[in-house]
Amino acid sequence: MEHLQNLIDGQLRDALSGRTLTTPEPATGLDYATLPDSDAEDVQLAVTAAQRAFPMWSAAPSEQRARCLRRLAELLERDLDVLAAAESRDSGKPLHVARTVDIPRARHNFAFFADAATQFASESHSVPGQLNYTLRQPLGPVACISPWNLPLYLLTWKIAPALAAGCTVVAKPSEVTPYTAWMLGKLAIEAGFPPGVLNIIHGGGEKAGAALVNHPGIKAVSFTGSTRVGAGIAASTAGTWKKLSLELGGKNATVVFADADLDVAVNEVVRAAFSNQGQICLCGSRILIQASVYDAFKARLVARTQALRVGDPNEATSDLGALVSQAHFQKVTACIERARAEGGQVLCGGTPVRVEGRCAAGWFLAPTLIDGLSATCATNQKEIFGPVATLLPFVDEDDAIAVANATPYGLAANVWTRDVSRAHRVAERLQAGIVWLNCWMVRDLRTPFGGVKASGVGREGGWEAMRFFTEAKSVTLVY
Ligand code: NAD
Repeated sequence: MEHLQNLIDGQLRDALSGRTLTTPEPATGLDYATLPDSDAEDVQLAVTAAQRAFPMWSAAPSEQRARCLRRLAELLERDLDVLAAAESRDSGKPLHVARTVDIPRARHNFAFFADAATQFASESHSVPGQLNYTLRQPLGPVACISPWNLPLYLLTWKIAPALAAGCTVVAKPSEVTPYTAWMLGKLAIEAGFPPGVLNIIHGGGEKAGAALVNHPGIKAVSFTGSTRVGAGIAASTAGTWKKLSLELGGKNATVVFADADLDVAVNEVVRAAFSNQGQICLCGSRILIQASVYDAFKARLVARTQALRVGDPNEATSDLGALVSQAHFQKVTACIERARAEGGQVLCGGTPVRVEGRCAAGWFLAPTLIDGLSATCATNQKEIFGPVATLLPFVDEDDAIAVANATPYGLAANVWTRDVSRAHRVAERLQAGIVWLNCWMVRDLRTPFGGVKASGVGREGGWEAMRFFTEAKSVTLVY
């Protein structure tokens, strides 16, 4: 059994209580590591270290901050294979996905914000006799809390801009997938971050996470996770005036118009639905298809989905690996049962997959397409966050917009059409923070990321991701 530790004040250490949690490998169901079951006392140590480091780090020349971030990016590149293997083992995702998506994007987060740190600027507006400028000052120690689905990628998407902006950080990765955050802690020491600048606390959300969010020394909370927990954080910090960035759940629409390049769309729509076992907040889990091509496109989607291979994450031929935990597997299978009870017709999948050999006890589920449900039923309203997508017909553009927007969420959407004017019209009218036209999950870090409605607030990108971690002060000089 491997033993993970917290990173506090530049040192790797156990929880003060000595208590641990265990984490299993989803593909085998076997426990393979223990992690600190941190509590308020560990959080106190970490916040104290972050407070101590803040004056030095916030005053450091931006080149120095950039050097540390760039060095960390280089170390992620150097350790790409070992990090990818760890991410795959920890989360159940295919190794090739961790190797081509999670770890390269985590590396890119540090590289991007290393550059951004040296380019960060603020506005100045001068009129005769008067100079007005905006000071953007780092907030202080901030909390970065992340979920299990893209463990290192989402954690670094928070840590990197916070550090670049001059804040010190106490990060809490998901207790479900702690391994690459533990590796990151060791790499941060190697990269030369001064003690206390980056602290990583492991443990459960209700104990370590809540203690961190509510610690008075924490000036901002950047949280990615469920809408339920995000709402709890917003409630518990109300009146403390902490800045909040909440990136929450989704129920994203894929919209396929009859005039789309259906050959391209069929592959990408399936990829959008089932990548990472459907456990990406951006997955298109409601597939809206124009009625005139509904039956033909449905048949192609089913055939393409049935061709996906569910298997050992270590095998290059596996398109889908295991779901992240037994509890999540049970939740997703219960959602499929609910869809059946609501009158849904399971077109393919819907059952566990038994993978022979070392993965015989893993949590594998066949990618599932469901037809025949209303847009308003629970299956089409609540986030499932697994390899389950529903099909819904629509008549025309207005109908497509109405169905796509008819959920409490508003994270992302992808739209397939050859009509450029239609693409722009639809993008404008969709209630979503991110819209992809004839593509899915293409990301430029300079654009805002995040959702509207119940999918979150504090959507930022590029510079703004750094600005979130600063306090803007307006200064006026009359001369
Ligand atoms: P979760 O909300 O259960 O947990 C997320 C993180 O919050 C974990 O680190 C957890 O330990 C911590 N946490 C739990 N309770 C807490 C509390 N009371 N106080 C402080 N921290 C607490 O989410 P999850 O199950 O890990 O992740 C899946 C969810 O994340 C899905 O809803 C998915 O849509 C969402 N998600 C959103 C985005 C986005 O960018 N919008 C990206 C990825 C995942």
